[in-house]
Amino acid sequence: MLIVGLTGGIGSGKSTVAKLFAEKGITVIDTDQLARDLTLPGQTALNKIIAEFGKNILLPDQTLNRAQLRQQIFTDPSKRRWLEDLLHPLIRAETKRLIESAKSPYCIVVIPLLFETQANPLINRTLVVDATEEQQIKRAKTRDHLSEKEIQAVINTQVTRQHRLNNTDDIISNNGELKDLIDQVEKLHIGYLNK
Ligand code: ADP
Repeated sequence: MLIVGLTGGIGSGKSTVAKLFAEKGITVIDTDQLARDLTLPGQTALNKIIAEFGKNILLPDQTLNRAQLRQQIFTDPSKRRWLEDLLHPLIRAETKRLIESAKSPYCIVVIPLLFETQANPLINRTLVVDATEEQQIKRAKTRDHLSEKEIQAVINTQVTRQHRLNNTDDIISNNGELKDLIDQVEKLHIGYLNK
């Protein structure tokens, strides 16, 4: 089955594009959501995170303090690697399971850091949602209530726009209005159905 890895920088429009594919009946697997599900209270992965980072990594309601975890792995690359080694195999196994049970003609797997992490053997085509940094900042600022500086810091940890464009099979340009995405998704959808 064709498995398309959908990626793009923060605020580029990945979730928006993913939703348009889902509306066409295509199975969309969101790996960020899988990571959140895998670290809910009671999950083995959360217990391992608590053992590694200490109880202070929890919020008062005993759920994972994601902002604090993000901050800690941002400043300590060995902690980042530890977390990736824990979560990536679990996310991959769950993605594989969801692909195997999918009934749609192809699948979209949203992987925000597709080009930053090791090649994913499940993916056989890539789709980049591209936007200018100016647009990314504007959109992420409104959505996440973050400062321009905070968003820029995230952008700086990600591969460049040019790197994504040079290394992808397909591109959706998201620098205009939302309705401009619909035609682009439709064209790709028809192409993917015929692959
Ligand atoms: P990502 O998943 O890549 O971080 P989103 O799809 O969540 O990005 O988009 C970021 C924000 O910008 C969301 O609030 C979304 O509704 C909005 N957005 C995305 N594309 C456009 C667009 N073309 N015009 C206006 N707002 C947009």
